[in-house]
Amino acid sequence: MVLYDSTRGGCEGLTSAEAIKQGISPNGGLYVPRFFEQISFEEIEALTDKTYNERAVEILKRFLDDFTAEELEDCINQAYTTEKFNSKDIAPLVKLNDSLGILELWHGPTCAFKDMALQILPHFMVKAMKKTGEESEIVILVATSGDTGKAALEGFADVEGTRIIVFYPAEGVSEVQKYQMITQTGNNVKVVGVEGNFDDTQTGVKRIFTDRELIERMEERKLKFSSANSINWGRLVPQIVYYFSAYADMIKSGAIKSGEKINFVVPTGNFGNILAGFYAKMMGLPVNKFICASNENNVLTDFIRTGVYDIRRDFIKTISPSMDILISSNLERLLYEMSGRDSEKVSGWMKELSENGYYKVDYKILEKIQENFWAGWSNEDETLKTIECIYDDYKYVSDTHTAVGIDVYDKYVITTGDLTPTVAVSTASPFKFNDSVCTALFGKNEIAGRTEFELLELLSEKTGWEVPSGLKDLDKKEIRHNTVCEKDKMKALVENSLL
Ligand SMILES: *Cc1c(COP(=O)(O)O)cnc(C)c1O
Repeated sequence: MVLYDSTRGGCEGLTSAEAIKQGISPNGGLYVPRFFEQISFEEIEALTDKTYNERAVEILKRFLDDFTAEELEDCINQAYTTEKFNSKDIAPLVKLNDSLGILELWHGPTCAFKDMALQILPHFMVKAMKKTGEESEIVILVATSGDTGKAALEGFADVEGTRIIVFYPAEGVSEVQKYQMITQTGNNVKVVGVEGNFDDTQTGVKRIFTDRELIERMEERKLKFSSANSINWGRLVPQIVYYFSAYADMIKSGAIKSGEKINFVVPTGNFGNILAGFYAKMMGLPVNKFICASNENNVLTDFIRTGVYDIRRDFIKTISPSMDILISSNLERLLYEMSGRDSEKVSGWMKELSENGYYKVDYKILEKIQENFWAGWSNEDETLKTIECIYDDYKYVSDTHTAVGIDVYDKYVITTGDLTPTVAVSTASPFKFNDSVCTALFGKNEIAGRTEFELLELLSEKTGWEVPSGLKDLDKKEIRHNTVCEKDKMKALVENSLL
């Protein structure tokens, strides 16, 4: 059986169900599988004839082996349906040119790649609770800067045994993102705007998570907090699947032969998505390089180039907001693997980061990281220019996050000369960030004075791409959540709605 250990030691040998239910280990470490079951080239080749859901079974059973085959299939088939995803392939691979394919991960209900994990996590959670004899109801608390909140709401709405409360910075999300959340249906959901920025919101949620007195009173009522962030193993593991799926589709289309290495370029924030790809490589997926793409918050670029992780810099608000992040939590899991699973070393670096704002890894570890990863970043102008060029050359409309990836890929090719076939991971629908996409394609004058909802129509009319159903008529839907609270009233609000 695959058991799970904490990256900071202490908590060892948990089943996947226990790791998913807990979310994070009590000492702040992240749960990681003790070993990676290998998959052969023949087995990967056999994926080519399978559907996305069948591919998911093949991968997930190698990690969640305390779930029965029936339980796993049940989770997968409830999550990845054509009612929820507007592509029968779930995660289609689109050919841009002979050397570059685009893996579209945004066909789910909220139009960003978070759906790939948050559509299935609630089902894992419900089954994990049953398997571990949990009698409490799980309360998912989320602080969101935009994408995660809506994806978590869609995933957990009306899921038995769970409730979900999402806090968003009232003035810190786009109109589309806000309307996606405040029109959310479901009997177990609550959405609250916070008078403050994302940091205030996240700090408020963290305080509630660690409030012993509140937790005890919750326990009396059989209520327990959990997290839907990518620190939870249950959110990371579904993301391994689409790296195999993309590879199988590359074989299927004739772009590569079985066993041939490819590159992936991944627009990165919290390092969850790209780490899932690295885990696929550890299982035996033939990957040459993972190209880690950042925006102007380029902490990871510096780290992968120098071995120094340094957050002593300004936080920059960019047009790819889902990557505006300085502390990439999942990097801890990579460091654990790269240091030969040295939980003492990992704990030390994390302590240095929280106390001094930086840490430096040794040369040997840096060398290992650079064998697997290359890093670069893209500024605002380059990102907008990339959206324009990709549209001019291929009539392909890419969102700002995806464009960061493609721009960094260009820089990679120019710097290294490596022409290995590459898959660019596309993390959001262009309609979700239509303000910037329309600016890039049609210019500032054309969009002046139009609302985001009008821009959806404009983008659709001019490109011929259809507005995704999740974003259509958003401004005409009934507003169900208009609570806004002061940042120090968040706990009181949680108490009122739960106790
Ligand atoms: C969350 C997100 C990312 C960053 O993914 P990580 O797993 O945090 O690295 C990139 N693009 C979009 C659109 C996102 O929503």
